[in-house]
Amino acid sequence: MSGRTAIVTGGQLLSYDLGPSHPLRPERVKVTLALIESLGLMTLLELLQPRLAASQELLLFHTKQYLNKVREYSGRGYGLLDSGDTPAFKGCFEATSWVVGASLAAVESIMSGGVSHAFNFSGGLHHAHPDRASGFCIFNDPAVCIAFLKKKYGLKKIAYIDLDAHHGDGVMYGFYDDPSVLDIDLHEDGRYLFPGTGYPDETGKGEAERLKINVPLPPDTNDNLYIEAFRRTVPPAIKFYEPEFILLQSGADSHINDPLSHLSITVKTYNEAATTIHDLAHQFCQGRVLVLGGGGYKLSNAARCWTSVLSSFVGTRLPKAPPEEWRNYYRTITGEEAPTTIAEPEKEIADQMKRQEIIGVLEELEKCTCIRN
Ligand SMILES: [Zn+2]
Ligand SMILES: [Zn+2]
Repeated sequence: MSGRTAIVTGGQLLSYDLGPSHPLRPERVKVTLALIESLGLMTLLELLQPRLAASQELLLFHTKQYLNKVREYSGRGYGLLDSGDTPAFKGCFEATSWVVGASLAAVESIMSGGVSHAFNFSGGLHHAHPDRASGFCIFNDPAVCIAFLKKKYGLKKIAYIDLDAHHGDGVMYGFYDDPSVLDIDLHEDGRYLFPGTGYPDETGKGEAERLKINVPLPPDTNDNLYIEAFRRTVPPAIKFYEPEFILLQSGADSHINDPLSHLSITVKTYNEAATTIHDLAHQFCQGRVLVLGGGGYKLSNAARCWTSVLSSFVGTRLPKAPPEEWRNYYRTITGEEAPTTIAEPEKEIADQMKRQEIIGVLEELEKCTCIRN
């Protein structure tokens, strides 16, 4: 599959730093870029500079009152922007504007025809709502990108696919009645995990009815079960909708052993999902895909999942073990032992109860969303 791939990199993106003890660490991006580099993939990529999102761009999704609040907290440098998870820090307005601007720069590069696929690993801040911060997210870069694609390029059919363990509530509710957004979100069941939303009967409103597809998965869902849920939702919905552009939020916290969530998939599933989305993008939307990071709170998981997603877009196979050079770097940056394999062994628990639960959800979705049309 052809099509050039870009990544947005720049030191400014590491300034989105919620504090030394906060799980959303900028080192996640550092160790990912180092892994990509050590595998020799950089030479296959275009490098894009991030830019600051303008206030007018942030206002495509967020309210003026909320922007003013973030500006005020950013100047002050302390306080909480939500009920507890998202602390303000000095310069947080600019830091999050860099993240949003990096995603916008990626969109511009794709829409100008410079590249087909572009990555912003710092992005994917899918919990922020128009008027408030939530779940480590100050401004919602995927939502601003969707609004930007509609406004600047006049797109009418945009698909948003979210693989993060947490439901992408900011994006889904932000466009709940908007038929120009197909939203497909696989996540850990909201009964067990923040933000507690994203149920199968939340299918959209008005003209957008049947276009919001929520796939809650029970804790411990493994590769086999996840891939079955993915295959039965994502390709049929994309084939039905025929989008002009795809956004992929590839939060790495669905990976086994994430400290904040409880799904049990491995790099293999991230790779397979990305390969399928890549194929669909070339089939339906000239290859246009913006890939964002998101959650992923174990550094080694974030690095391996995102590198693997990237490799499926550039069409390379990764070796079984990460290079020794990267393992040394990883130890220095994190103070932890580095993984010896790119893909963890799969968790092969054939749990019939879980399977039945997931099949029940899929059958319900086939009745009430566009995956059965
Ligand atoms: Zn391609
Ligand atoms: Zn998450």
